[in-house]
Amino acid sequence: MPNHALVLGGGFAGLEAAIQLRQRGLEVTLVSNRPFLFVYPTSIWVVTGEKPFEEVCLDLGDVARRHGFRFVEGTVESISGAGRSAVVNGEKLAADHLVVAFGGDRLKPKGAELTHTIGGDPQAAVRARDALSALLARGRGRIAMGFGGNPKDGSAVRGGPVFELMFNVDTLLRRRGLREAFELTFFAPMPSPGERMGKKAVGALQGMLGKLGVGARFGKKITGFERDGVLFEDGSKLETDLTIFLPAGDGHPAVKGSDLPRSEAGFVTVDGGCAVPGFPGVWAVGDAAALQGPDWRAKQGHVAEVMARVAAANVAAVEAGRPERESYLPHVGITCLLDMGNGAAYVHRDDVTERMVPLPVVGHWMKQAWGAYYKASKRRQVPRLPGM
Ligand SMILES: Cc1cc2nc3c(=O)[nH]c(=O)nc-3n(C[C@H](O)[C@H](O)[C@H](O)COP(=O)(O)OP(=O)(O)OC[C@H]3O[C@@H](n4cnc5c(N)ncnc54)[C@H](O)[C@@H]3O)c2cc1C
Repeated sequence: MPNHALVLGGGFAGLEAAIQLRQRGLEVTLVSNRPFLFVYPTSIWVVTGEKPFEEVCLDLGDVARRHGFRFVEGTVESISGAGRSAVVNGEKLAADHLVVAFGGDRLKPKGAELTHTIGGDPQAAVRARDALSALLARGRGRIAMGFGGNPKDGSAVRGGPVFELMFNVDTLLRRRGLREAFELTFFAPMPSPGERMGKKAVGALQGMLGKLGVGARFGKKITGFERDGVLFEDGSKLETDLTIFLPAGDGHPAVKGSDLPRSEAGFVTVDGGCAVPGFPGVWAVGDAAALQGPDWRAKQGHVAEVMARVAAANVAAVEAGRPERESYLPHVGITCLLDMGNGAAYVHRDDVTERMVPLPVVGHWMKQAWGAYYKASKRRQVPRLPGM
């Protein structure tokens, strides 16, 4: 009987871990609390109405059948590292290898529930779409978009998608001849939002906001939200008709309530091989794990997939009694196609290079093509490209 791996979470990290572990001959069970993987990078287009919700979802049951692993739809209520087990919908599941891949939670600043958002609950993108579409139907208004910080872990801060959504909404308004009737403002507590992407990229992005006439409220701590605006530390209020806010990530409640070692922000501590120190057979990958690396590191989908591949390779090494281990650390970097609705910018940062390549028009179609490729490759309908 092959050994059994229990993978918790059906996002980028969990799905890749399940596929890779299966390919290495393990029996695999993947548990996730929704029947689909939500392809967050393409979810900005749900908000602008460019893509229907279903197109951003990948059916996990279907993918599981194609790869030969078991998919269980259920909520992980608690986990035990010592027992390599989890309680799922009241039932205890245990395995030889436990892979924690259920992402993280989000910080909840005062009044955040009064805002719209992206990330987290997939239905939030649908609610934001409906609110945006209702405001556009009114013909004029004030739209603010921003993101929050996490002083305990800068890698859990996510600003890129908010830049993308702002650019996409600007493009949408221009296409509809409505741009003059809408006031757009970008807000963030840090003085130079987006700096993790590198000086070149941040300069270009902030310059682009200015060029498009998007107002900026940078470097002011957010103290809360009201139904009609954003409140700042200096007592000022940004009046809005629609606020879209992406809070920074926080540790998952099931991790915080477990016996696993964790960072100050509540992410699972792992070594370079994604193994949890002191818990043989327990691994953590993707947003759930405390990412190591340079100061500017950021939790991203491609890093989540690298971590999943590294963990699977190391599980196989353990199973075969081989001493060598792979590490995700050399692969920590920022890579994304930052979409603008009418083009994109390729942004890359690693230890030695910082790149920002404008890709007018074609960039938008490249990101769309990536979304289609991601789903088709997971369904085994097209061959996997190296490293993707
Ligand atoms: C709007 C947006 C755009 C982005 N764009 C990009 C981009 O362009 N490029 C890039 O590289 N990265 C991007 N990212 C980041 C990327 O999406 C994340 O880094 C990636 O999703 C992390 O994958 P994960 O599997 O670790 O976590 P998640 O994707 O969060 O997946 C976690 C999974 O676990 C499940 N789960 C959670 N709790 C439980 C529970 N208790 N029980 C059972 N299941 C549970 C969830 O349903 C989910 O399926 C973007 C993120 C957002 C929000």
